[in-house]
Order: sequence, then structure tokens, then C-alpha cells
Amino acid sequence: AKASGKGQFCFFDEKLAAKEADRRVLQADLRDALERNELQLFYQPEIDLATGRVRAAEALLRWMHPEHGLVAPDRFIPIAEETGLIVPIGNWAIETACREAASWPDDVMVAVNLSAAQVGKVDLVSIVQNALADAGIAPSRLEIEVTESLFLTADPALLRDLEHLDAMGVRLALDDFGTGYSSLSYLQRLPFKRIKIDRSFVAGITEDPRAMAITKAVIDLAAALGIETTAEGVETSAQRRLLAEHGCTHAQGFLFGKPRPRIELPAAGEGANVV
Ligand code: C2E
Ligand code: CA
Ligand code: CA
Ligand code: CA
Repeated sequence: AKASGKGQFCFFDEKLAAKEADRRVLQADLRDALERNELQLFYQPEIDLATGRVRAAEALLRWMHPEHGLVAPDRFIPIAEETGLIVPIGNWAIETACREAASWPDDVMVAVNLSAAQVGKVDLVSIVQNALADAGIAPSRLEIEVTESLFLTADPALLRDLEHLDAMGVRLALDDFGTGYSSLSYLQRLPFKRIKIDRSFVAGITEDPRAMAITKAVIDLAAALGIETTAEGVETSAQRRLLAEHGCTHAQGFLFGKPRPRIELPAAGEGANVV
């Protein structure tokens, strides 16, 4: 970095400072975001590759900032995690997702992301139980998505809580599969019902034989465990075809729909919910 000269070094310094200032502004505002109703859940469909039907929708957080407009989760979730605000925000997401899913057809599940920073700070089992009861939906309609990173930092109560949720009938999904560490040992230890194959693999399957080989191996691994696979970030029909041919059960991505404020399902009786 030194070789690139003093001017350049200053430039990066200023950029860093600007980023830090931006972060501080967002951090201050995030404290009030929940109270001011600025947070919202968008929903992205997950389709069954065999039938084309929508099997679930993933809830994805959005922040409608009064000045900055729509702030993406990659910008504010890390701040929420560092400040502990992820706890009330995460609880709100579980409650809101269950409540909104209550108006969907019974065969459409809702998937919610769980952050490592949420775990151990709240009684996750009670939060979920209350959210399901208040919404009046069956536990089997809720899927909780966790990433491998969860297991690096989390408290020993985590495995017990996740097992408890499974025993209640809530479904566990292993998200961003293949991007972290020790995924296989967690697959062995916890009763996951689904593996979500990270977009970084799916993106390459039509051109890169190695990406396809890894994706295929994950699909076969899931099949051997008797669980389902969702390919993330499916953008082309060539990817869709290849995944279906190789036995992938579900897919999610811009090809089927971007995250939107409401899940879009044709009315029942209209041959419904087929993509
Ligand atoms: P994720 O859980 O892996 O969610 C999938 C992300 O991929 C979403 O980004 C989605 O918009 C994007 N995506 C879906 N299909 C495509 C595609 O075909 N092409 C491309 N390029 N992207 C696609 P989003 O909504 O920006 O969320 C980013 C991340 O923020 C999520 O990654 C998740 O880790 C986190 N996140 C979102 N909502 C929550 C939440 O309620 N709680 C927690 N803890 N994390 C959340
Ligand atoms: Ca996810
Ligand atoms: Ca993911
Ligand atoms: Ca991701």
C-alpha cells in the first residue's frame, strides 16, 4: 500500500473515515428504526423444481430509512449484531413473518434467518412458540435458517434450543452451505431438513465443471440424508434445468422472483401458485 504513494494512502483513509461516519449515522438511527416502523420484511419465493409450485418464501429484512431510502441488510445487520439491536430486530422478524404467513395458503411455509448474535440472549424457544401461537400457524410452516458461522460463536444452549425447535415441529435449514467451516459435523449433529446451496456455487454451474461437481455432491449428500436442497441465486433457465436434472429439489432466485413486500401467489382456483 505504501508503494502506491502518499496521495493514494490519504484517499483510502478518507474513504475509510467516510464509511465509519456513515456507519455511526446508521447506528444511531437503527436504534429508533423499529419504533418508527421503518423495518419491513420482503419475501422471496422458493419453488419446487418438480412441480413449479411455490413451497415457501424467505423473509428478508429491509430498512426504509427516511433520508437514505432503502438500506440493504448487508449494510445494517452487521451493525445490529455489534450493538445487540439484532435481538429486538430478530424477535420482531420472527413475529412478523409468522403473522404475515398466516394469510398465505397452508402449504406455503415461511423461512426466517437467525443470527448468531441473537442466540443465548433470549429464550429463542419461547419467542418462536409465542410467535406461532399469536399467528395461529402450525410449527411445520416455519423454517429457521442458520449459517455455519452460528456454531463458531454461539453459546452451548444453541444446540439444545435448535433441537427443541425441531422437536416442536419447526424445520431447520442450513444456509449458505459450503462457504463456512465444519458444516459436515453440524449436519451430523442437528436434524436439518434442508440444505441451501450458496449462490457462489450455483452461479458457476453452467460454465464451470468444478462448481457443478460441488453442487452435485451437495445434492447427493442431502439425498443420502433424506433431506431437501434449495439452490440459491438461480438466475437463468439453464441453471434451473441443470439443477432439476441433478436432483435438486428446490430453487430460489431472480429467475422466479426478487424479494418483494408481499408474496405473490395467484388466487386459489386459478391453478395456483405455479411459476
Ligand atoms: P441470505 O440469507 O443468503 O439471503 C439471500 C440473499 O440473496 C438475499 O439478499 C436475496 O435478495 C439475494 N438473492 C436472491 N436471489 C438472488 C439472485 O438470483 N441473484 C442475486 N444476485 N442475489 C439473489 P438480501 O435480501 O440483500 O439479504 C442479504 C443477507 O442479509 C441474507 O443472505 C441474510 O444473511 C441477511 N438477512 C436478511 N434478512 C435477515 C434477517 O431477518 N435476519 C438475519 N439475521 N439476517 C438477515
Ligand atoms: Ca437465508
Ligand atoms: Ca443463503
Ligand atoms: Ca448469503
